Amino acid sequence: MAGEPQADCLFCKIVAGEVPATVVRETETTVAFRDINPQAPTHVLVIPKAHYPDAVTLAEEAPQLAAQVLTAAGEVAEAENIVASETGPGTGYRVVFNTGPGAGQTVFHVHAHVLGGRGFNWPPG
Ligand code: IMP
Repeated sequence: MAGEPQADCLFCKIVAGEVPATVVRETETTVAFRDINPQAPTHVLVIPKAHYPDAVTLAEEAPQLAAQVLTAAGEVAEAENIVASETGPGTGYRVVFNTGPGAGQTVFHVHAHVLGGRGFNWPPG
């Protein structure tokens, strides 16, 4: 059933506290934790506690929760000082939802990568 925990899902296990993670932010519906293999000085994953496989499925089936994930991503960026600012150290950041194996998705519990603290190229690799 949509949103239900999946026994074989790594990120459901993090939500349940069965796999350790460095949690930087938690709300009633979301968790944000540091990526185990960071690709930038800030690399945090923001997930809904409920299980949805990818960003579009989440938006279709639980749009309010999708908005909460994005709001949490913005709050993480603020806390990490990576938001573009004339007065602060940040220059901007990326929010990435890899969607499907060909695009690099390896964990099929939707997660927003929040990446910052370095420059980025376009197009991405
Ligand atoms: P994807 O490739 O877009 O699906 O992103 C999955 C991310 O999860 C990768 O950046 C991995 O480094 C990260 N990851 C995998 N296992 C763990 C873990 O146990 N803790 C934190 N991050 C993880």
